[in-house]
Amino acid sequence: DLLVVGSANADLVIGVERRPAAGETVLGSDLAVHPGGKGANQAVAAARLGARTALLARVGDDAHGRLLLDSQRAAGVDTAGVLTGGAPTGVALITVDPSGDNSIVVSPGANGRLTPADVRAASGLLHASRVVSAQLEIPLETVVAVAAGLGPDSRFVLNPSPPRPLPAVLLAACDPLIVNEHEAKVLLGEAGGAASGPEDWARLLLAKGPRSVVVTLGAEGALVASADGGVQHVDSVKVDAVDTTGAGDSFTAALAWRLGTGASLAEAAAYAARVGAVSVTRRGAQESFPTAEEVDALGGA
Ligand code: ADP
Repeated sequence: DLLVVGSANADLVIGVERRPAAGETVLGSDLAVHPGGKGANQAVAAARLGARTALLARVGDDAHGRLLLDSQRAAGVDTAGVLTGGAPTGVALITVDPSGDNSIVVSPGANGRLTPADVRAASGLLHASRVVSAQLEIPLETVVAVAAGLGPDSRFVLNPSPPRPLPAVLLAACDPLIVNEHEAKVLLGEAGGAASGPEDWARLLLAKGPRSVVVTLGAEGALVASADGGVQHVDSVKVDAVDTTGAGDSFTAALAWRLGTGASLAEAAAYAARVGAVSVTRRGAQESFPTAEEVDALGGA
């Protein structure tokens, strides 16, 4: 069983011909509202694959919060751990221009009010979960409390997004730490500049204390690294990518779920790469996440 601890946002998207300058108003397309946030995305991705999944998150007592709860429940996620109130639901205000470039303003809202005390109050949920997966769109001290509150048999998976330097206690709990190229560079800082490529990043990140590391490489697949297994490459599946939104979230969710079923890190990452590949063939985040049948139907196994 998988527990995702993290953010839930309403993504408010408007297409524009061009972005307004300061003091200017432009007209845009009709508003599209999508459930999002890395925590909510991961929980939906795992549940759609068939994983027994729970979400620990905080939303506002408002329409966006209800939208998020509805999308979680529709995917089959256990939402008993979703707390309500304290601030409006987190929102991402997104404008998309004709070239497809995004400009995004995030208001963390209730995500910023998910506290270490909330995590301690959910310790039964933490202890009941074989794998607990977190990201960094909630306060860092809350993520630290998750790592400190794991049950003796629970495994902790962290995607440090948006990236920032991490305390040693948090790094030491990760099994694995999952990063894309940008996140790897931020976590490595100066040392990353001296590294010659992804294999070096994986080794340097492993030296920072996590039990294992995964570096995702988009269309190039991923690297998995651990002290006993060395660095291994995981192939991607060749697909026609139309929108990479949510690829990392679906990859992480799939990997965390497979680890909980007893798969090795390399096996879990290979499955996750197939899930990520399907998700990039469709637009959107949660809408793009596949079922297990759709993953099996993908060629190139
Ligand atoms: P993020 O979305 O966090 O930047 P990546 O872009 O590295 O993460 O994507 C996560 C995973 O999804 C990759 O490791 C890969 O397995 C899969 N993936 C992403 N983009 C593609 C692609 N264009 N073709 C095939 N697989 C992809």
